[in-house]
Amino acid sequence: MPSSMGRRDFIKTVGISTVAAAVGAGAGATLAAETGGNMGNLGAVKDGKYVLPPLPYAYDALKPFLGSETLTLHHDKHHQAYVNGLNAALDKLAAARQSGDLAGVRALSDDVAFNGSGHILHTLFWNSMTPGGSPLRGDIADAVKRDFGSHEAFLKQLETANTSVQGSGWGVVAYEPLAGKVLVLQAEKHQNLTFWGVEPLLVCDVWEHAYYLDYQNRRPDYVKGFLGVANWGFADRQYQAARAKA
Ligand code: MN
Repeated sequence: MPSSMGRRDFIKTVGISTVAAAVGAGAGATLAAETGGNMGNLGAVKDGKYVLPPLPYAYDALKPFLGSETLTLHHDKHHQAYVNGLNAALDKLAAARQSGDLAGVRALSDDVAFNGSGHILHTLFWNSMTPGGSPLRGDIADAVKRDFGSHEAFLKQLETANTSVQGSGWGVVAYEPLAGKVLVLQAEKHQNLTFWGVEPLLVCDVWEHAYYLDYQNRRPDYVKGFLGVANWGFADRQYQAARAKA
């Protein structure tokens, strides 16, 4: 992100509209890239290409929950690969439009959804954690109490959802604008949103690359540790932005 942009502004602009742009269709993502839309506000587009935003903290800042080797590989290699894949797919779609040979559009649209969702979800994931954690309070704390009965019941459901995602995927805390409810969801294939229209508030990456070096196959321990660094201040700002738009 540009140095002129504070972390708060950066965080405020991460929302479902960017997810929709990246996930919904190649055309949406291209538009965002060309106009600088929400992605431009993120400082995540340069010369029309998506770029990897820096981690919002140092690579060793989440120790002992996650070591710097995990965060370095996960951010610099895995997240970068989604960014590269998104740019490549959009380039190939542009070439297809130019040549009129549209045979690859189906597969390339899938590439845009897969890599675009991966890019946005990882951006949310880095911001879903903060060194030492940030307590569950504010509007989101009230909403969670209303929708889940208690904070304990909510956190227990979130922990179980994170732990039990089958294979690779994500646990997602989301805002559902029809009923104005907070939901806990799972996303096994992140190119298929589990509930169209929801606004993600906080996400937990449970692909093995997120924890294997530190926890091997012990995902439950990783998930417990995640709750220890969960950034509920970020989730509250996402929640307020989602409600303001609904
Ligand atoms: Mn990941």
